[in-house]
Amino acid sequence: MKTLAKEMLEGLLRDISRKALVYCPQRNERGDLLLLPLGEGTTDGCIGKTPISAKICLFPQIEDVVMFAGDGISKVTDGRETVVFGVRPCDMRGIVFMDRFMSRDNLVDPHYFARREAMTCMVVACNEPPSETCFCTATGKRPFLTATHYDVQFFDAGDYFIALAGSKKGNRILEDRHFKAAAEKDIEKVKRIKENSSAAGMAAGELEDAIKKLAEDRVDGLFWEKLALRCIKCGGCAYVCPTCTCYNVQDYPFEFGYRRCRSWDSCLFSGFTRETSGHNPRATQGARLARRYEHKLKYDLMKYHEIGCVGCGRCSDVCPVGLGAIEIVREIALMP
Ligand code: SF4
Ligand code: SF4
Repeated sequence: MKTLAKEMLEGLLRDISRKALVYCPQRNERGDLLLLPLGEGTTDGCIGKTPISAKICLFPQIEDVVMFAGDGISKVTDGRETVVFGVRPCDMRGIVFMDRFMSRDNLVDPHYFARREAMTCMVVACNEPPSETCFCTATGKRPFLTATHYDVQFFDAGDYFIALAGSKKGNRILEDRHFKAAAEKDIEKVKRIKENSSAAGMAAGELEDAIKKLAEDRVDGLFWEKLALRCIKCGGCAYVCPTCTCYNVQDYPFEFGYRRCRSWDSCLFSGFTRETSGHNPRATQGARLARRYEHKLKYDLMKYHEIGCVGCGRCSDVCPVGLGAIEIVREIALMP
């Protein structure tokens, strides 16, 4: 266990950036708080909950995956050493979820894992929910990590952080000159932070009730069609979600051949499942909305014994018509 004075954080990240690409929460020119490469935005000390989850550091919105140039075909991977500071516990759980998805059935995604293996995750536990839409505690989790899925986990102790290593990479980070040895009182402080930080944004009962109704097939198509009348099909909920993994692949010409790119997609778009014949197995927006939430709250539970929602509330933050996970869970819970 070590401590890091908050005024030393920037120095630490600058030290690390000599050897690795460093992402941390920074404001862009419009004032949005995003995980950006160090120096691409401005830092005001706010870690917050970035509207777009940390998945963007591993699974970018658009990336080249294959190049076709002349007679040659080459796979494109990005294995640059990367350190991400400011990963929230919900983000880290999202990353662990994506690790499983990107290697399911022994099909390992080389683009994702090239980044993942070169990534060090510096998680910041939440002393209190960063926004009123957070509901990680309702999903049965805590606003900090107990398993060692992180490399370093920071606890906010006022004007300094208490840092714990969860991996060899984390131990190496804690050797940096900016850290100091922790005192006996810091062990007690971490204990108190953990005890105090479990305030839920949503009653666990509503989520449990919604999960039960979905498992029992009590939520019918009419329910989803009525809700979907509000959806403007923007895809925002999927884009910001730490556990959404839908993507599309397209080829684009360039000077020497073609680039094959993959980009985020969403199961809420009609084109995502439309077949070449024109037939669409999920023909209505209601069917697509049902698919999104049944996937997360029913099928992931059946397959992996945990729901595919980490309770970050980002979909509720971003949806312009109030159709995020919180609102949908509440609507289902209200059903008889
Ligand atoms: S469904 Fe919504 S609340 Fe759940 S993980 Fe995705 S963005 Fe977060
Ligand atoms: S953010 Fe809301 S409006 Fe946009 S696709 Fe998702 S549910 Fe529909």
